[in-house]
Amino acid sequence: MIVDLSRLRRQAGSRRELRLVMDGAQLAKRDATWRFPEAPHFEGRLEHTGEGRYLLSGRLSGTAETDCARCLKAARLPFDLRVEEIYLPQRRVDELNRTDFGDEVGVERELEPEAERALPHDGQYLDTDPGLEAALWLALPMVLLCNEDCRGLCPICGHNLNESSCGCQPEPTGPFSALAELGRLLEKTKKE
Ligand SMILES: [Zn+2]
Ligand SMILES: [Zn+2]
Repeated sequence: MIVDLSRLRRQAGSRRELRLVMDGAQLAKRDATWRFPEAPHFEGRLEHTGEGRYLLSGRLSGTAETDCARCLKAARLPFDLRVEEIYLPQRRVDELNRTDFGDEVGVERELEPEAERALPHDGQYLDTDPGLEAALWLALPMVLLCNEDCRGLCPICGHNLNESSCGCQPEPTGPFSALAELGRLLEKTKKE
């Protein structure tokens, strides 16, 4: 959402309450591994904290979905994140990106560590989407399982082992063969 800063920029401490829904389809286009069956919605505020610095804060919640890393079925993750993103004037962000350690601006950066991830605004308008997206992508895990105990797919026939066992006998090689062997022995003991 694009926020017009005309009113907020006049005085430090001005704030505007925000309630918005992100475009789930657009997000899924940005990172094809994730889908959003429940579009992320944000409830929070944008505050002018002085000298062109704006703080976007609040909660972002929704449900993300991806393929289970073991069985490839849909795995869902409801989320409710705390958002705190800093926006600075474009030229300030450029300055921070250009400068390394040691010089004057580098020292300033030490005093203002959150500025390292600061997002730009042009003084007139501020786009909340990049801030909310940054918070979202940072919070989503690299992999997700449909269930902690997901048994995955049989490496031989591809059968989903959560549904039933397929009777394949895995070759006794590879890092998990000892475990598989132990599992079979236990299975046998149970049956006897
Ligand atoms: Zn699974
Ligand atoms: Zn199998």
